[in-house]
Amino acid sequence: MSKVAVVTGGTRGIGAAISKGLKDAGFTVAATFAGNVEKAEAFKAETGIHVYQWDVADEAACAAGLAKVADELGPVDVLVNNAGITRDGMFHRMSFEQWRAVLATNLDSMFTMTKPVIERMRARGFGRIVNISSINGQKGQMGQTNYSAAKAGVIGFTKALAQENAFKGITVNCICPGYIDTDMVSAVPVDVLEGIIKTIPVGRLGKAEEIAALVAYLASDAAGFMTGAVLTINGGQYIAN
Ligand code: NDP
Repeated sequence: MSKVAVVTGGTRGIGAAISKGLKDAGFTVAATFAGNVEKAEAFKAETGIHVYQWDVADEAACAAGLAKVADELGPVDVLVNNAGITRDGMFHRMSFEQWRAVLATNLDSMFTMTKPVIERMRARGFGRIVNISSINGQKGQMGQTNYSAAKAGVIGFTKALAQENAFKGITVNCICPGYIDTDMVSAVPVDVLEGIIKTIPVGRLGKAEEIAALVAYLASDAAGFMTGAVLTINGGQYIAN
C-alpha cells in the first residue's frame, strides 16, 4: 500500500506543486485548502488528488480533518506544513489582527496539524514532517514583522521536534524558500518585485516545482538520516549557513 501524505495549502502555489510531486513519487496525497473551493475543485479534477477543506489555525478542525483523512486514506506517514499567509505592514502601523492572523495560520498550525499525527507516527516508528518556513524567517524583512516572527518560529519548532522524535524513525525538516512565482508573490507591487529580483543572484524568481523536488526527497525513505535541517533554496539571495 502506498504511503499517505498530507499537504496543507496543497491546492495552489507551492503546495500544489508539492502535492503533485508527492503523487508522482507514489504517495496517496491529501491536499488541504482554506476557502478557495473553485481552485481546489479544479485542482482535484486536473490531478485526481484528494482535497479537504479546513482552517489550519483551528485546532478542532485540524483534529477532525486529519481523522477523516486517516479514515478515508489511511494513517498519515508524511505531513507537509505548507499553508501560509501574509498580512504585510510596517510594525508601527500593524494591527493586532494582522499579527494574530499571520501567527495563527503560519505558526499555530505547526501545533494544530502536527499534534494529531505525531503519536501515531511514533507508535508506527515512521514519519516525515516537512515545514515550509521562508527566507524572511531567516533574515527578517521590513514590513513583515509578523511573518518573519512566525517563520523564524517554524525553524525553532522544527529543530526541537526533530530532536524529540529522531529515535522514533520520524524526521522533521524545514525548507526556507526565497521568492517563488506564486499568487503570494504576485501580490507584491511590480516595482517592489523588480527590485527584489535584482537581489537574487540567479536572476529570476524560483519555481514551485523546485521546492516540490526537495520535499519529495525529504519525504522519501532515502532521507532517513536528514533531520532538524534548515534548507535554504533561494537563488543565492541569502546564504545563511
Ligand atoms: P499561496 O498564497 O499561493 O497558497 C496558499 C495556500 O495555503 C492555499 O492553498 C490556501 O488555501 C492555503 N491556506 C491559507 N491559509 C490557510 C488556512 N488558514 N488554512 C488552510 N489553508 C490555508 O501561497 P504560496 O504557495 O506562495 O506559499 C506556500 C508556503 O510557502 C507558505 O507557507 C508561504 O509562507 C511559503 N513561502 C512562500 C514564498 C513565495 O515566494 N511564494 C517564499 C517563502 C515561503 P486557499 O486556496 O483555500 O486560499
